[in-house]
Amino acid sequence: ATPTAIMVGTGLGAKRGVLFKNAIALETSARIQVVVMDKTGTLTKGEPEVTDVLTDGAETGISEPELLRLVAAVERESEHPLAEAIVRHTDERGLNSLRAERFENVPGHGAIAHVAGRRVVVGNRRLIEREGIELGSLAARRDQLAGTGHTAIVAAIDGTAVGVIGIADAARDTSATAVAELHELGVEIVMLTGDNQATAERIARQLGIDTVIAEVLPGDKASKVAELQQGGRKVAMVGDGVNDAPALAQADLGIAIGAGTDVAIETADVVLMRSDPLDVPTALRIGRGTLRKMR
Ligand code: ADP
Ligand code: MG
Repeated sequence: ATPTAIMVGTGLGAKRGVLFKNAIALETSARIQVVVMDKTGTLTKGEPEVTDVLTDGAETGISEPELLRLVAAVERESEHPLAEAIVRHTDERGLNSLRAERFENVPGHGAIAHVAGRRVVVGNRRLIEREGIELGSLAARRDQLAGTGHTAIVAAIDGTAVGVIGIADAARDTSATAVAELHELGVEIVMLTGDNQATAERIARQLGIDTVIAEVLPGDKASKVAELQQGGRKVAMVGDGVNDAPALAQADLGIAIGAGTDVAIETADVVLMRSDPLDVPTALRIGRGTLRKMR
């Protein structure tokens, strides 16, 4: 593109809070064929809230407050947004806290610690399976929560599954419109998430996204982007988190949500200052406009 076209494009972007870091970013925006979007914090608000606390009732005899106190003790040691939601919910209910020992963070899975002499495992189905724990009657409740778009966190005490906590993270108001506008631009949209398949599919359907890549471990997001680039397809990645940074770097165009982490913002080629998914199609349109002017 000519220097003038680049200046015009960059200026147009800046006016709308779409910061192109350089001329290549602007030109690449015009050629994007696939947009990969992180779920949590990008398509959703990234403000998870506890909606359900389910025990297995009579079987193990644990009460709901007891379950929350044990789980919150573990999650208090974690920095994961889901952990923060559980701690907040427990505090709001005025349940006093217990102390966790020998805390172990299991990335992409959950956390484990000892509380009041008991080993407490908190996390997704993969973690529970890895620990050789049977879900039993809780399996149906877990599936029901996931089927309605909740993230279902399972808790086990001393090797026995005792409860499921349902967490909801609402979609951003403009996510569905952003997806529709990207479709109009002829772009394929892929949701990429560490969350459960059923949960992700439910939210994707709600937003009109057709392709879902779920249960991706934090270290594997970049290789999923590389797979989508096969055959020379130009891929943009939109994300907010620390674990999105390698994928933002791998993509032809890394787009960071302005409210995201510093690492994501530093790694990206484009920053959306308003943290609005609608600015993704805006960025691609500005790129296309810039290329057209050069011809
Ligand atoms: P994402 O942010 O895309 O959901 P993560 O890799 O951070 O990806 O987490 C993947 C899944 O692992 C979460 O959806 C959750 O089920 C589980 N998980 C991770 N950390 C925790 C935690 N501290 N407590 C409970 N579950 C967790
Ligand atoms: Mg995220």
